[in-house]
Amino acid sequence: MKIKHLLLVAAIVALFGFPLVVSNPYYIHLVETILIYAVLLFGLDIVVGYTGQVSLGHAGLFGIGSYVAGVLFMKLGMPFWITVPAAITITAIFGGLLALPALKVIGPYLAMVTLAFGTIIQILINEMSFLTEGPVGIKIPKPAFFGHVTTEDEYYWIVCVLMLLSLLVVHRILKSHLGRAFEALRDSPVACDCMGVSVYRYKVYAFIISAGFAGLAGCMYAYSEQYISPNTYVIELSVLFLLAVIMGGRKSRIGAILGSFIIVMLPKLLDDIHLFRIVAVSLAVLFILLAAISLSKKLTTVRKVAIPLAGIVGLAAFSFWLENITDWRLTIFGFMILLVVYYLQDGIVGFVRNYYASLTGKSAQAARDAEALLEIKPTDKDVISAASDTSKGGTLLSVKSILMQFGGLKALNQVDLTIERGTIHGLIGPNGSGKSTMMNVLTGIYVPTAGDVVYASNSVVGKTSSEIALSGIARTFQNVQLFGEMTALENILVGLHHTFDSNLLDVALHLPRYTKEESEARERALGLLRFVGLESLANEEARNLPYGKQRVLEIARALALDPNLLLLDEPAAGLTAPDIKDLLVIIQKVREHGITIILIEHHMDVVMAACDIVSVLDFGQKIAEGKPAEVQADEKVIEAYLGGATA
Ligand code: ADP
Ligand code: MG
Repeated sequence: MKIKHLLLVAAIVALFGFPLVVSNPYYIHLVETILIYAVLLFGLDIVVGYTGQVSLGHAGLFGIGSYVAGVLFMKLGMPFWITVPAAITITAIFGGLLALPALKVIGPYLAMVTLAFGTIIQILINEMSFLTEGPVGIKIPKPAFFGHVTTEDEYYWIVCVLMLLSLLVVHRILKSHLGRAFEALRDSPVACDCMGVSVYRYKVYAFIISAGFAGLAGCMYAYSEQYISPNTYVIELSVLFLLAVIMGGRKSRIGAILGSFIIVMLPKLLDDIHLFRIVAVSLAVLFILLAAISLSKKLTTVRKVAIPLAGIVGLAAFSFWLENITDWRLTIFGFMILLVVYYLQDGIVGFVRNYYASLTGKSAQAARDAEALLEIKPTDKDVISAASDTSKGGTLLSVKSILMQFGGLKALNQVDLTIERGTIHGLIGPNGSGKSTMMNVLTGIYVPTAGDVVYASNSVVGKTSSEIALSGIARTFQNVQLFGEMTALENILVGLHHTFDSNLLDVALHLPRYTKEESEARERALGLLRFVGLESLANEEARNLPYGKQRVLEIARALALDPNLLLLDEPAAGLTAPDIKDLLVIIQKVREHGITIILIEHHMDVVMAACDIVSVLDFGQKIAEGKPAEVQADEKVIEAYLGGATA
């Protein structure tokens, strides 16, 4: 058994053994609350950490979970094994409602709307006295099983079990294609849609799943406190939850548990001056030690550590000057938040990870990934395949009199294009001539003002980007749109999302359908990386790759979609001469697999070498079309380029 597993077993034993060692019910209840909040934070982290949305409505969802349990018990005498699934389901439905604004607005606006949601829930709980008893609140006894009412200790163990189950399920969801979809939509919503992963759908899923956990937490909380009333589910609680995710460290289950620990313990800490002094001094000592190690290894500079050091030592000194902490609670709390938000942006877990990585030169995550990579068997099958398209030859795509107007500007003015199957069709023209706009029209990012695009005898106008992607049109972007915080391998896996049929249940229970799909996808992803020569960088985060590698990674990701038509928007931009040679080889190989390509390119040598036919745009109009050599010699084309160069 590895150390990691031993630690896990030790932690679980300690968790379950806690009431046997500590008999004081106050402490047992405290740990119970930490576990319950942790369940909510696992869910909140999906929305905040993974999809990158804000929610200040989670106290409201927590309240719904509590009141579903409370009302079902009070009105109908429902037992625990019914109130728990009911709380999860009903809260999940409200989570779907909360997702609706997230589809329209982002950032501060979303914060406001979710805040309003939380407030409305609290007011409704307060006002609907016929159901909720209003401000009087509801009393609930501990759950009973077969006539036996559980004791405090027994209920604590139930919470432990449910928390560990939640941990397992959340972890599995986030490591699956669902979790990758959540992460991808934060890193680049446009690319996510163009990989056939509907941003719309997965934002809603994220909120629904997140709310399910909030509902479970709320339900457990009701039985834990044995009394619920509206003034628990206030805005301050939502803010506290959000802080917990940030302080603990987003995208981390340990972070959620740490965050929960902090928000439960902090009020106690700020009540007790002696405890506060001990903690402040310990933190200061710990920080001085870490700073000393970093400085001696030249990992940081005195300038960088000076201010946080002064802050934390100042806090420790201040704690001894203080005689009474109660008046200063909020000030100290604010000061701590300031330090955390400013200096620990990745939370405690993020800080530890970064520190470890800077000491050892490689992160624990990378080491784990490398280990996982060894388990992937390389596939013998051909990794590239065009989606089933029986017809050979003939027209694959026809663009008919497309007009794309932005205000008064006609970015595309009555453009016709005919793309034949199996060809490489060049699209050239000076900057601002409308090439990228054409790509965006073809992939559903823009809806044309007039005209039609017919792909494989269906119109694509009005379809969503993800529908178009799934119908077989894949693309890359002029300004690279990778999922930056995900590894190269994971980027490709998002492209392979369409190969998954597994649902939430398959993922949560690791049913054979899911494990088979996941291992096949990983094999294929590794094969695709090998195809573009990035196999050795599989575990590198995409944002850390050199620019040229990012561009080919984007091509590999597009190929994962099994496209019939591949749109490349200036793939050679910013590439070195040897990289361009490799790129040409890749493009040729892709074509040999029967994939039709539209190639936007400024490098004339690439266009000449690769394209069968070239269309030229200028000021949104098609001014020439023909074989590369013909086009290059065309008077109008030369003038357009010279005009563009001097303008
Ligand atoms: P190219 O890719 O050929 O360099 P683009 O297609 O990016 O050119 O742009 C063509 C013209 O359309 C430019 O004048 C650009 O400013 C304009 N344009 C593109 N997208 C938008 C948009 N979303 N809103 C307004 N103008 C746009
Ligand atoms: Mg462009």
